Amino acid sequence: MNDFLNEQGQLAAADTALDASTLNVAAEAVIDESIDAVAVEQKAVEEQPNGFVELGLAPELVQAVADLGYTQPTAVQKKAIPLAMGEGADENGFIDLLVSSQTGSGKTAAFLLPVLNTILQQRAVADAEAKAEFDRLCAEAAAKGEPLPKRAKRKDPTNPRNFKAAVPGALILCPTRELADQVATEIRRLARAQENIKVVTVYGGVPTRNQIASLENGAHIVVGTPGRVMDLIDRGVLDISNIQTLVLDEADRMLDMGFYADITTVVEQCPEQRQTLLFSATYPDDIDRLAKRFMREPQMVQVAAQHSAHKIEQRWYEVPAKQKVDVVVQMLAHFRPESSIVFCNTKQQCRDVVTELQAQGISALALFGELEQRERDEVLVQFANRSCSVLVATDVAARGLDIANLACVINVDVTPDAEVHIHRIGRTGRGDAEGLALNLVAMDEMPYVAKIEQLQGRPSEWLEVAELTPKTTNVVLRKATAAATNIYNIVSSVRSVKETAVTTPP
Ligand code: AMP
Repeated sequence: MNDFLNEQGQLAAADTALDASTLNVAAEAVIDESIDAVAVEQKAVEEQPNGFVELGLAPELVQAVADLGYTQPTAVQKKAIPLAMGEGADENGFIDLLVSSQTGSGKTAAFLLPVLNTILQQRAVADAEAKAEFDRLCAEAAAKGEPLPKRAKRKDPTNPRNFKAAVPGALILCPTRELADQVATEIRRLARAQENIKVVTVYGGVPTRNQIASLENGAHIVVGTPGRVMDLIDRGVLDISNIQTLVLDEADRMLDMGFYADITTVVEQCPEQRQTLLFSATYPDDIDRLAKRFMREPQMVQVAAQHSAHKIEQRWYEVPAKQKVDVVVQMLAHFRPESSIVFCNTKQQCRDVVTELQAQGISALALFGELEQRERDEVLVQFANRSCSVLVATDVAARGLDIANLACVINVDVTPDAEVHIHRIGRTGRGDAEGLALNLVAMDEMPYVAKIEQLQGRPSEWLEVAELTPKTTNVVLRKATAAATNIYNIVSSVRSVKETAVTTPP
C-alpha cells in the first residue's frame, strides 16, 4: 500500500515538474509580450500632451493630475475648470456655476482643482506678504542697530487657551458621509505634493469629539453634511465667515434627503463675496429656488447626460411585477457578475429582493435609508471586500457611493425620473471598463421607459426573459457545485490523512 502511494506521489511530482517547466516557458513569452505592449502604450500616452495644461491650473496641480494618471480632462472638467477659475470674469473675480453632472463624470476633480488652485494662489500671496513684512522689520531693526526680530512661534493648538475656531477657505457640502469621505480622499490625492493642506471631514451619525479635535488644528477645506456643519458652527468650533468657495455637491440628493433648511442656514453664514459652485445630476424646482436665492447670475455648465452611456450595454426585459424578484435571481445566475447593485424604488422591494436572493444562496445585502450609520458601514465594507456580491439599494441610500469596477447594475423597478436612470447605470462602466445594465419593466412602467429613451436619444434594446438560463437549472447547478465542493474537501482531507500516515515515521 505504501509503495503504491509512494509511486503515485513520484508520478504526480514528475507531472507537476513537467507542467511547471512547460508553463514557465509559455508564461515568460506571454509576460515579455505584455511588457512590450505596455511599453508601447505608455510611450504613446507619454507623447500626448497632458490636456490639463490648457485649463490654466497651477503647475503643481497639473503635475498632481498627471501623477494620478489623468491624461485628459473629462467633459465636465474641460468646461467647468476654466470658468470656475474666473475665465471671462469681471474684476469682481469669481463666477458662480450651476453644473449638471453625474457620479463618474469626474465632477469631484472639476470643483476640487479650482478650489485647490485658489488656495495655492492665496497661500503664495500670503507667504510673499509675510516675507516682505518680515524683511521690512529686519531692515528697520538693522538700521536702528537692534537685534533682528524672531519669527513668531506657532502656538500649541492642543492648549485650550490657544483655541481658535477653524476658519476654512472652502466649504464643500455633500449629502452623505460616504461622499464626504470620497471627496476628502480625492483632495488628499490631488494635494499630495502640497505641504500642509488641511482637510477636515464632518458628518452626522458619529460623535462630534474627534471632528472638533481635528478642527482645532485648523482647516483649509471642510467637507461635510449640512446638519453636522450647522451643529459645529453653533458650537463655535467652525467659522465659515471667510469662505471663498462654497461647493454644493450632489445638490439634488441633499434636497431629496431633506437638507433644504440646513443648507440655507449654512449658506446664510457664508460671506456674500464668495464663489458658489453647485453640482447636481437633476434640476428639480428646489435647485432653482436655491440657485436664485444664493447664487449671483450663475453660468450653466451642461454636459450631455448620456456621455458615458455608450460604454454601457443596456438590456431591457418586460417582466410582470410579481415575477421580478425571480427574474433577478435568473439574471445573476445567467450573467454571473462579480459585483452588482440592484436598484429598487422602495424599501419594501429592497427587502423582498434581498430575502429571495439570500434564500437562493446568493450573498446579498440591503442598503436603505433606515439603516443606522454603523449598519450601513458594515454593509459597505462587506460589499467592498467582496464578501457580499450583490447590494440591493434605493437611490437615496446608494447616493455618493463610488464603487470601482462594478460589473453590473440591475434596475428591478424603472425610475420615474429619467436622469436618475442615467445616474444609476453610470455606476457600471467606469473608466475604461465596459458596463452592463439590466432593466426589468412591468407594463405600467412603460411610460418611464419612453422618457428614458427620449433623454438618451435612442430606442431601448428589448430581450426575452426566456433567453436567460432558467432559475431551476441554476439552483440545481448551485447545489451540485456545493455538493462537489464538499466531496472535494472530504477527499482532500482523507488524502492528507493518508499522506501523513505515509510520511510519519513509525
Ligand atoms: P467622480 O465623477 O468625481 O465621482 O469621478 C469618478 C472617477 O473618475 C474617480 O475615481 C476619479 O478618480 C476619476 N477621474 C476623475 N477625473 C479623471 C480624469 N480626467 N481622467 C481619468 N480619471 C478621472
